[in-house]
Formats: sequence, C-alpha cells, structure tokens
Amino acid sequence: MLEHAFGRLCNVTASAPLLRSVPPDAEWFGERITELLAGLTTAFASTGELAGLSPQSVEIVVAEDVAAAVKSLATEVIGVESLQDFSLERVGGTVTGKTMFRDVAHEFPVVVLDAAVFRDESAICRVGEIQITAHELAHAFIGQLRAAGGEPMDPTSLPWEVSRWIARYVIEEYIADSIAESVLGRCGTVTQADGTTRPLACVDFAECAPYFVSAAQETLDNIAETIHDYRLGLIDLETMWLAVQPRTSQMLIALAHAQAEHDHVSGHPGPYATDGAAAPLDRAWRDVCACFSVPLFEGAERFVQAEQAALDRAGKAVLGLWRELGLTFRPEGAAFYISVAPPTH
Ligand SMILES: [Zn+2]
Repeated sequence: MLEHAFGRLCNVTASAPLLRSVPPDAEWFGERITELLAGLTTAFASTGELAGLSPQSVEIVVAEDVAAAVKSLATEVIGVESLQDFSLERVGGTVTGKTMFRDVAHEFPVVVLDAAVFRDESAICRVGEIQITAHELAHAFIGQLRAAGGEPMDPTSLPWEVSRWIARYVIEEYIADSIAESVLGRCGTVTQADGTTRPLACVDFAECAPYFVSAAQETLDNIAETIHDYRLGLIDLETMWLAVQPRTSQMLIALAHAQAEHDHVSGHPGPYATDGAAAPLDRAWRDVCACFSVPLFEGAERFVQAEQAALDRAGKAVLGLWRELGLTFRPEGAAFYISVAPPTH
C-alpha cells in the first residue's frame, strides 16, 4: 500500500513551501536546496491528497544549529513536548530534524532540518538530504492524518498511558523511516558490484542498524541499573521513574530505526532488532513489531482507529517490559503507586 501510494507523485497544485535558512539568507542556501525541498513538499502534497487530507502549508527551516532553531519556535508551536530544553542527543544517534505544528489540524507544520548534510559536498549527502527531508515530511503527513481522524491524545503522567505515548512515538518513527525509503527509492538507483541496479535506499547514506541495536541494548542495561540504584537507596523513586520513561522511549525508537532499515534492506519484515538481546526486551519488541502496519490511505478515521488498537497492544508490551524489569503500577485516585521488585529474569 505504502509503496503504491508513494509511487504516484501525481500533479497537484501544492502551495509553495515557505523556505528559509538559519542564519537568514545563508550563502549555502542556494537553488539546489530550495528546488529539492519544494519538489519533496509537492510529492508529499500529492500523498496528502491521496489520503484525503486538506492541503498543508509547510514551512521548512534549514538551520546550522538545529537545537537553537527548535527552541526559538517553542512559543509558536503546539504539542505536549517541552522544547525549552530540547537537545540533540538520542540513544544511538543525533537529531537531524524536527517537525512541529502550529495548529490543532496540523495543517501548518514547521520542519527544522540540519544544514550539515545539505552543505556537505560529498555525493552521499545528496542521498542523506532527501532521506532526512522525507522523514520529517512524513511526520508532518502522519500528524495531519492523525489530527483529521479523531481527538488528540491527552498529555498524561499515568504509566499505563505513558506506555501508549511511547508506543506512538516508536510506531511513528518506523512508519516515517519506511516512507523515507519509499521516497528515496523513487529518486534514483544504485548500480551494484554485479552490474545490476536497485532503487536508492537510506542505507546508501549510512548503515545505522548495528549502532542503534547496540545502543538500545546498552540502554536496557542502564535502565535496569537505574532501577537497581533505587532499590539500593542510592536514588529516590521520582528520580528513577523520571529517568526510566525517556530512556525506554529512546531505546525503543532506536530499535524502530534499526528495524525499519532491516525490513527494507532484507525485504523480510520481522523482529530483528532484538536478536541476541535480553529476553524481556526481545519479548516486548516482538509485540511492538506486530503493530507497525497501520493503514495510511484508507481514511483518517480508519488510521486513528488502527493506530489506537496498535497503541493498546504495543503499550501493553512496554508495560510488560517494565514489569519484567521490576516496575508495576496501580491507580490511586487520580495518581498512581509504583511498586519496585527485583527483575523477573
Ligand atoms: Zn522521526
């Protein structure tokens, strides 16, 4: 479905994206870059149209300092994420783009992209710039699809809802990577050693899966150690819980990137990213992998329905992982209790 829909880069009248560089009017921000960004935005406009969405007015900011550019937009955008202390470090890599929205309908996204890959003159960066732009425009597309299909998910601190939010980030990263593969595959071909050609793929920019997998496995150990530190009385409960949540999210997002790369390169989707990982992570990941295929072109309501069902299942997998690491939760009025036990493995 995805392949087919992204193959049809049909003629649509897309409103030209608002494009700018930070710093403003940078000398490197030339025609090649603006034409590429306008072309990809048009391709995504046709995708949005195919999915039954209203036209989207995209602003793209190519910034030498992504973190500063994102922070500068903090008061202009909506969403649950606090951007004031936005940083670029993530498990297994560094942030190269960020998509935010100015309105509830998500028709006015602002996409910040790292200028480094656009400014680099090596041929491989011509692949990378398409990849990071397509990945972020995919987030803009998914955000609008979700907003059109139902009520927004409420911000929460309740663990059994936090787990669903984490599942949402993870599944969305997988889908955005898959869409970027699809777009890239239509932008060029690679001639292989045996003379045959194949479509361009994200792996032609950089092979990332092994790094993401090992970083995720290190993060699992780190989460287990943090819980152990609490049990030893070295840190308090809140410090432990505030560390466990983002680390779990980043760990699973790293696995999603690895999984998307693997599924595309191998052509055989299926749990790979936790081969050789500790059993609790492997068990949870198998369940999350079963949630990746959410329909994008059957209407916005159908997307939200399917996504919510996916979050129920993948969210339970996250709770199951926490349980195996020793953390269980129960409601207490509007708040919750955390019980901390030794890990079950
Ligand atoms: Zn992303």
